[in-house]
Amino acid sequence: MKKIIYMLVLVITSCSTLKKESPLSQQEVESKSLKFPKALVSSINNGAVKKVQLIYPFQKIKAKLFCAGHEVALGSPKDGVANVYISSSRHKETGSFWCEYRFTINKIEKKVAVAKFNIIDSNYPLRTLTVAKKYAKLSDQAIERWKKETAHMDLVYAAAITDRALFTKPFVKPLNSKITAVYGSKRVFNDMKHSWHSGVDFRARPGTKIPAANRGRVVLARDHFFTGKTVIIDHGMGIMTMYCHLSEFKVGEGDIVPQRAIIALSGNTGRSSGPHLHWGVRVNDHWINGFSLLSEGI
Ligand SMILES: [Zn+2]
Repeated sequence: MKKIIYMLVLVITSCSTLKKESPLSQQEVESKSLKFPKALVSSINNGAVKKVQLIYPFQKIKAKLFCAGHEVALGSPKDGVANVYISSSRHKETGSFWCEYRFTINKIEKKVAVAKFNIIDSNYPLRTLTVAKKYAKLSDQAIERWKKETAHMDLVYAAAITDRALFTKPFVKPLNSKITAVYGSKRVFNDMKHSWHSGVDFRARPGTKIPAANRGRVVLARDHFFTGKTVIIDHGMGIMTMYCHLSEFKVGEGDIVPQRAIIALSGNTGRSSGPHLHWGVRVNDHWINGFSLLSEGI
């Protein structure tokens, strides 16, 4: 009898012990085993892109990556490693910025720094331009149109493919012709409107065939006030390329195009001071110098 009572006490005690400590959630178990390396320290030119490998120690938890407050496409990290394209703003010429993982455990948001980038000033030049009056001083009608187009573009950018790459080869420049305007220059239009050049201009006779810089999905093929007939391709990983002032579309919105597929013919539509191709490259919220993407490979 004494033995039975003793056993009973033991069972009750162990039961109560179990009750006190509720089992850890999967997230908690994972958070205890997460190992973060020392933050990567690197450098980047303003208005450029850099491909880096970051340790991604998460499995069940879904973490997001933010650099200088902008979300960066993580793709599908494999074997604890994420290959990401870090872009830097054209307008931040000095200093540094941090990249951090943001994730939630038990409804508490956590942040862990993974990389720091020191900015190297690209020293972009100043340029003065003369354009037709209707583009220097906009009518109310033009402003209305431009606002609508901008709102639509914002939706296109917000829907960027971030969980995968649609391309398997390095990016190529669309033309081999002379560059008539470099990326990044500050611009003064007719001595009044200040702006900056967010892409690269290639010399192109009207009707020149324009190839896609890489495989991707056509997410815009429309005639816009400033950029004229415009094509935007979403390549995934937060990367988009834009082709402006075209004369004729060869693709439509929704089309998947292989690298070097002819997407349009060049022209002189929109705000353009002569026939040329404006090539824009956007990586995670920043218009960057397309040539920096070519040199980064995949
Ligand atoms: Zn341009």
